[in-house]
Amino acid sequence: MTTTALLPLTSFTNWLAFGERGLSSEAIVTHLTGSAVSRWGHGDHPHDPADFRRCVVLLEAVPVAGLTFPTMRTVSPAWARLVDAWDEILAELTAEVPGFRDRDSGGSASAPRTYALMQRVLAAGTRCEPCDGTGKAEACPKCHGTGRRAGGRCRNEGCAAGHFYCRTCRGRGYTGGDR
Ligand SMILES: [Zn+2]
Ligand SMILES: [Zn+2]
Repeated sequence: MTTTALLPLTSFTNWLAFGERGLSSEAIVTHLTGSAVSRWGHGDHPHDPADFRRCVVLLEAVPVAGLTFPTMRTVSPAWARLVDAWDEILAELTAEVPGFRDRDSGGSASAPRTYALMQRVLAAGTRCEPCDGTGKAEACPKCHGTGRRAGGRCRNEGCAAGHFYCRTCRGRGYTGGDR
């Protein structure tokens, strides 16, 4: 990884003290400042909505970082794909968890559609139309889509949290792609 120091570490003083740190938000700060702020390596991209959310909160807290953020494209192919789709992912997360910025409720909220979109983006796949990118087919008739039955998890064969997997994309929400 080539590191070009674009910003002084002081731009992130407040985030370093109080921010929500994860491998991917630390990767952004490391890349933009040239200072290794993570104890656990560097360059890791967001893997799920919780990672993505921490990055968004960081970029909004430090506006100058938002301006130079697109240079994350050079860190890895995965980062390049995520940066290119950043606005789309942010729109999906905003629609799915309107209060995602809230540290307590937003940080633990489930966002399966955003997760599916991120998996598609990371794989450079094509959105699966039959299931609208969700990976889900019809609701399970035994648990009526709830995924729960008789006080426990629904054990009907093929039921995945209340729905059957889309046959076109085998539950991935996208087709093609390289992983
Ligand atoms: Zn079921
Ligand atoms: Zn599908």
